[in-house]
Amino acid sequence: MLVFAVETSCDETSVCIMKSNKTILSHIIYSQEIHKKHGGIVPELASRAHLEILQKITKTAFKKSKINPKDIDIYTATCGPGLIGALLVGSTFAKALSIGANKPFIPINHLEGHLFSSSFNNKISFPHLSLLITGGHTQIYIIKNKEKIKLLGETIDDAVGEAFDKVGKLLGLKYPGGKEIEIKAKKGDENYFKLPLPLIDKSNLNFSFSGLKTSVNLIIKKNKIDNDFVNNMSASFQKCVSEILCFKIERAIKNLINEKIKLSSISVVGGVANNNYIKSKLLNITNKYKIKLILPPKEMLSDNAAMIAWACIYKYNKKNANIDFKPNPRLTI
Ligand code: ZN
Repeated sequence: MLVFAVETSCDETSVCIMKSNKTILSHIIYSQEIHKKHGGIVPELASRAHLEILQKITKTAFKKSKINPKDIDIYTATCGPGLIGALLVGSTFAKALSIGANKPFIPINHLEGHLFSSSFNNKISFPHLSLLITGGHTQIYIIKNKEKIKLLGETIDDAVGEAFDKVGKLLGLKYPGGKEIEIKAKKGDENYFKLPLPLIDKSNLNFSFSGLKTSVNLIIKKNKIDNDFVNNMSASFQKCVSEILCFKIERAIKNLINEKIKLSSISVVGGVANNNYIKSKLLNITNKYKIKLILPPKEMLSDNAAMIAWACIYKYNKKNANIDFKPNPRLTI
């Protein structure tokens, strides 16, 4: 079975042609450059850019994989959550192709795309805990099986990736700031600035990152910004974020142990899982409890169409076809 998937929930325009046996015939991810000069994503510009880029990369994907649109068995696209204009462009494009080829269209939840991405290259046994860390989401889920996915906690304000990008902007770093902060942090002293650990004293599994950004801003206003400052603040901020994530994951593990639920693995999914420092700290926690830490393939961490194609293959079939599904910017699991 051949699946053609489109992902346009935010500022990545991506298409993928995947066989149901996991062979990726073509996978193209285009990161929109237009937002760099604005230091953040401008929704209207994202929608326009998706419209321009989608047709080009779709042509390339079919040409490279030597597949004809009529050979595709299922067309699929992200239908939420995300920016509504961006979701409309991608889903309408995939729906139009499905109508043209007279094949079914299956809507996919972007969050399921991320959560199932680690099952592409790992054998998953249930129940399984998942930490989703991206520019739009910071959530902890327990996945009891493909159908039963429960949200245990999430950010009450900014997402972790968003906090990285905003602090990067405050420090005068290039957009996206997350990558830059990890590079600068390597040269800095992570104990130089003492930053707050929001919600750490609360017994729930929720996160808050906006206060952290405000604290960074207050320190910036009182100091001279030179290379040492940027390096030390990058390292201190990264350490602080990592401590918050580790604290909440450890609390989730302890809660499940109390409930006598035995976890075999914890997955870390989403673009922030590219951060090697955070990964190594999370690994310390999972090693302590003898739980396996698993990650999706690198190309399936940041927003991408391969995870959408795979979520479609992993969980759904032609019975789930629904061309009338309306994209929902606030779609949940
Ligand atoms: Zn995402």
